[in-house]
Amino acid sequence: MKEITAMSAMKVADKIKKRELSVQEVVEAQLKAIKLREPIYNCYITITEDKAREDAIKVQRRIDNGELKDSPLAGVPVAIKDNICTEGVKTTCASKMLADYVPSYNATVVKRLEDAGAVLIGKVNLDEFAMGGTTKTSYFGETKNPWNIYHTPGGSSGGSSAAVSAEEAFVSLGSDTGGSIRQPAAYCGLVGFKPTYGTVSRYGLIPLASSLDQIGPLSRNISDCVSVLEVISGHDPMDATSVKQERFIYRQALIDDVKNMRIGVPKLYLEEDLDEDIRCCFMEAIKTFEEMGAKVELFDLDEIRYSVQAYYIISCAEACSNLARYDGVRYGYRAGDYEGLDELYKKSRGEGFGYEVKRRIMLGAYVLSSGNYESYYNKAGRIRSIISKAYEEAFNRYDVLFSPESLSTAPQLNEDSSLSKRKHHSEILNVSVNLAGLPAVSIPCGRDKNGLPIGLQIISKKFGERSIIQAAYAFEKTKPYERPQALL
Ligand code: GLN
Repeated sequence: MKEITAMSAMKVADKIKKRELSVQEVVEAQLKAIKLREPIYNCYITITEDKAREDAIKVQRRIDNGELKDSPLAGVPVAIKDNICTEGVKTTCASKMLADYVPSYNATVVKRLEDAGAVLIGKVNLDEFAMGGTTKTSYFGETKNPWNIYHTPGGSSGGSSAAVSAEEAFVSLGSDTGGSIRQPAAYCGLVGFKPTYGTVSRYGLIPLASSLDQIGPLSRNISDCVSVLEVISGHDPMDATSVKQERFIYRQALIDDVKNMRIGVPKLYLEEDLDEDIRCCFMEAIKTFEEMGAKVELFDLDEIRYSVQAYYIISCAEACSNLARYDGVRYGYRAGDYEGLDELYKKSRGEGFGYEVKRRIMLGAYVLSSGNYESYYNKAGRIRSIISKAYEEAFNRYDVLFSPESLSTAPQLNEDSSLSKRKHHSEILNVSVNLAGLPAVSIPCGRDKNGLPIGLQIISKKFGERSIIQAAYAFEKTKPYERPQALL
């Protein structure tokens, strides 16, 4: 039999359903793989070994009682990004500030996964407070890319991508504020889905920028991804931005048909400083879609040109206000010795936050200060509206838009980021999607000359998940999942 941990989430769920495997067996296999590989990849901040064992017994009992018949994830071990609250389990945001924080409640997504019988196996690494694209700013050290350990797994959800790729989890949850699900998925050869803003509850997600953040799955194929989406999405009264809409059966969109699908490719995305191998793979993917009957067209979407600037102004402003709560009084780290309240604030924040977090708080405070607010924050807001409108117009003509997910494949971990060219900042390809609240996926579409994975991004209009899934599913049929060769 194929190694348990190498199976897809759907396969293992099916075997559990048919009693060919028990939940305990699956959880033990998963823990064994984690023990074997964790010393190399460092995906996890916390491994919930005891809880996973206890939960395995409980879930098996629920299955035996016939309770979980309709759940696609019953008995499947999942990893959760460590900025998503888990009751009784440390949730650190990869920061010294929250290194000992144990939430007293579950995020809605965690509750929904557990209700569906998924088994939490651990909390995975990220850039501190999800700021970054490499995991290098994590207080708990960087994560390695299972395709090549000298390269980053991407970020900020780098633990989420490496864990699924290294078969240390079947599926995982990440969060995407400006590409943090899609980019690590691309760097590790996975599917990473950022849903429409408001589709998945943010209750219990420690915020980076509340108007941009969205939780979503990372998986080895689109069917696994869709199963997780189905479980975690839907209205939640605990999140004021959660959208009231009928529950969508995402599985119904797994249709191998893109005939007459209208695909738009924004020219700007191809004019950027793209790696040649990525350009080739992207063009090949387009050809595949054309062969399958889709209609592909290049078009102008120049409005997104200033999306990165607008993104940084808005996200830093929101981060600055969200992170004001860490004052050494109520949450997290408190400095050891201080005199008076002012010094308590200064020292706790000064010692608890890392460099990148401080940099963004400063930028946020600057653009929000009187005098600057008008010229920066308001202006960024206006750019945001222009971008949203431009996308809306594009979706009158196209069902989906395609772009490469990143300008380069995973950079080396030791690369000095101050020297790294704009090339490695693929944010131009990602952040406009968050600014407009759109759904987008990254799916594997080939590898570069060094064997590193390349991602194809598919974007749709708000609540257009169905078209994305359909396109991804049809493409996956032509390009089945590839496992990292270097994996032990
Ligand atoms: N690279 C982006 C940033 O650093 C992504 C952040 C995210 O999506 N969490 O802001």
